[in-house]
Formats: sequence, C-alpha cells, structure tokens
Amino acid sequence: MKLFSPAKRLFSIFSNDLAIDLGTANTVVYVRGKGIVLNEPSVVAVRASNQDEVLAVGIAAKEMLGKTPESIVTCRPLRDGVIANFELTGSMLRYFIRRVHDNRRTLVSPRMIIGVPSGITQVERRAVEEVAKQAGAREVHIITEPMAAAVGAGLPIHEAAGSMIVDIGGGTTEVALITLKGVVFCRSVRVGGDEMDRAIVQYVKRKYNLLIGERTAERVKMEIGSAMLVDTTKEYVEVKGRDLVTGVPKTICLTAPEVNESLLETVASIIDVIRVALENTPPELSSDLVDTGIVMAGGGSLLKGLDKLISKETGLPVRIADDPLFCVVNGAGKVLEELEFFREALMK
Ligand code: ADP
Ligand code: MG
Repeated sequence: MKLFSPAKRLFSIFSNDLAIDLGTANTVVYVRGKGIVLNEPSVVAVRASNQDEVLAVGIAAKEMLGKTPESIVTCRPLRDGVIANFELTGSMLRYFIRRVHDNRRTLVSPRMIIGVPSGITQVERRAVEEVAKQAGAREVHIITEPMAAAVGAGLPIHEAAGSMIVDIGGGTTEVALITLKGVVFCRSVRVGGDEMDRAIVQYVKRKYNLLIGERTAERVKMEIGSAMLVDTTKEYVEVKGRDLVTGVPKTICLTAPEVNESLLETVASIIDVIRVALENTPPELSSDLVDTGIVMAGGGSLLKGLDKLISKETGLPVRIADDPLFCVVNGAGKVLEELEFFREALMK
C-alpha cells in the first residue's frame, strides 16, 4: 500500500527509528524522539563447549569478565575495531535491538543507522546490515564512527573548512579530517582505553609483583589516571590483586604520578597518530585547523590532562566534545533525522 504523505508523517511518529553505535567497548542505542535508551558494554558470554550458545550480553556479560569458570568464555567481538567474530557480533546486535523493541508496539518497522569502526571491511559491513534487516529494519544505513562523532560534536562538516575529530574508544583511536561531508583522511590505530588498562596491569606487575585484573586497572585509570599531571583531587588509590611471589591476595596503594608514568607510552602512541594526520593534511585545510583546532570524542578523551597534552604537543586548540561517550550515537541520530542533507556522509 502506498501511503499519502500526511499518513506517512503520522506513521513516522510511531516508527521508532534507531541509531546504534557499535563501539569496541560500548554499544549505545538511541530511539528517535526518545533519546538514548540503551548503553551497555559490547561483551558477550558464551558456553565454552558450544560457542553458539549465548549466555549473557552487555552489562551481565561484562560482570563476568575475568571471573568466568572454565565452562564460560567472555568475548568482545569488536575489540580491535574489526569484527573478530561475525556470529557473536550478530547475536549481540540482535539482542540489543530486540531489547529496545520489546518495550514498544511499533506500527511500522524502523529505519536504522549503525555507526561502525572505520576499519571494517565491506564484507563485515554487509554482515552488520544483514543482522539489522533480520532484526526487522526496513532501511539500514551505515556510517563510520568518526563521521558520526563529528556530527555529534556539532562540527560544521558540510562546510569547506577542515574539521579534525579524534575519537578515542576502548580498542581503537580514530583520527579523521572532514570537509564538505567527506573524509579527507582517516587513520585508525589499535590503541585506546583498553591499552591504557593493560599498561597499568603491566606496571603494577613489574613494580610490585602484583597481578591485578583489567577491570581493576580500568577503575584506577578513571579515578586517578592522567596523561599529564594536573590537580587531581585524589592522590592515590588502593588496589587489590594477587601477589606473584607468595600467591596470596594483597592490597597496595598506587599514586597518581605512578599511574601517570604507566600511561605515558600509550598516550605517546595516540599523539603519534594525531601527528601523522596533521602531516597529511593539505595546507589549505591545515590553516583552518589553527582556528578550529581538534575536537575529541570517545571515553578515552576523558583521561585527565589528555586534552592539555595534545594541545601542548600540536600547538592547536583542543576541546572535548559535550557527552564524548554519546557523540557517535547522537551524531548518527542526527544524520538519520536529516538523511537527505547528510547522504554523502554515509559509508559508501
Ligand atoms: P568504544 O566507542 O570503542 O566503544 P567508548 O567511547 O565507549 O569506546 O570508550 C570506552 C573507553 O573509555 C574505555 O576504555 C573506558 O575505560 C574509557 N573511559 C571511560 N570513561 C573514562 C574516564 N573518565 N577516564 C578515562 N577513560 C575513560
Ligand atoms: Mg566509539
């Protein structure tokens, strides 16, 4: 049946169009007219003997990380910014879409826009589209995360001026230079918040012979971690782990300068990618950046002092976008609402 446009408009009110940020660390879902309805870790727990059997997804699965018995395996299917496991990515996406949909009676199947890491291949992208269609999408659009983040951060991507976005996620850091709704240059490295957590684990192991888990390290990073020592309210944090010499549980205190030291190498790799991006920027766009500077998004941008350090190292103004963890999903939502205007910004 062909709908006349007033009816079409009426239907669109009930259509529950979705924007999804399929991040390496977190998946965020936004429903048109409702805002963010789901924000959960991109983690799946499966039965070790039968990896098709999904036991938990999201928050419940992340709680199991590092604590599973031998019979259960937890997995982050997008960990490195590429789809390491098609089936599990599919199960996870299906689960999240269903969760959002169960709560409402839809009159028409929704349109969906999905933000994916810019490193995914065409084959992986088709797989994501396929899952969304199976989950009931009427129309699926794919956008790369840096492009969505730039829109979400309110950058003027349609103008003939260069905008630089640095999205620091869990598994990857993506740096993109955008102008006229297109990406001039994009670089992705497999360094992000996870690498920071691992660096803290290694540091504590070397210095204190204490083995701590990655989730403990993540907490340390968020509480007192920094890229540059700035006035932190807290000076130390207590961590519990297993003493590698005696084998028993032990508690130590880690100071802010120690955690800062442990993160220096990872932070340096992030700054390196930004440098490479700047070196590859055409001169006309480069001169725009002197005024517009660099905008940061993603959870990793919240590491204390990172904005200041990047600014110091590049000589450019740096700002953290509002709601950095939701930049991608907010941007994707905006693109979906103004699809005609943003069509060129979608992944080809
Ligand atoms: P992705 O897009 O890859 O899913 P996110 O943008 O959701 O990643 O960011 C997740 C990363 O951000 C994690 O490594 C997390 O530890 C880190 N993170 C979140 N909040 C903070 C914070 N306040 N300080 C430092 N790192 C943070
Ligand atoms: Mg992201």
